[in-house]
Amino acid sequence: MSDDRPLSDVVEFAGDDAGYAWWRTTHPHGFVLAVRARKAPLLHRASCDKVDRDRHPGALGAAGSRQLCAETKVALRAWLAREVPDAAALVERCPKCGP
Ligand SMILES: [Zn+2]
Repeated sequence: MSDDRPLSDVVEFAGDDAGYAWWRTTHPHGFVLAVRARKAPLLHRASCDKVDRDRHPGALGAAGSRQLCAETKVALRAWLAREVPDAAALVERCPKCGP
C-alpha cells in the first residue's frame, strides 16, 4: 500500500492475527471485507464468526485472501474501488450475518 494514498479508515492486519482479533473485539459494529482469490469479495459484520481467523484459518489465510476492517461499509467499498476496481461491483453480502 503506497504512502500517497493513506487509507486510515481501513485497516488490514496481514500476518497479525492478534491485532485482527483485537480489532474485531473492539469494533463489534464494524465490518470486515473478505477478499478472496477467484471469488467475489464478501462483506461481513465484524462479529461474524466466518471472519474469525481462529475458526477458519485455512479459508482466511489462503493465498489471495485478505481481510479488510473498517467501521463503515462505505469505507470498505471505497477501498475496494481503489485497490481492486474490477471486483468493486461484485461485492456479496454474507448470508449469515447480513451486513
Ligand atoms: Zn458474515
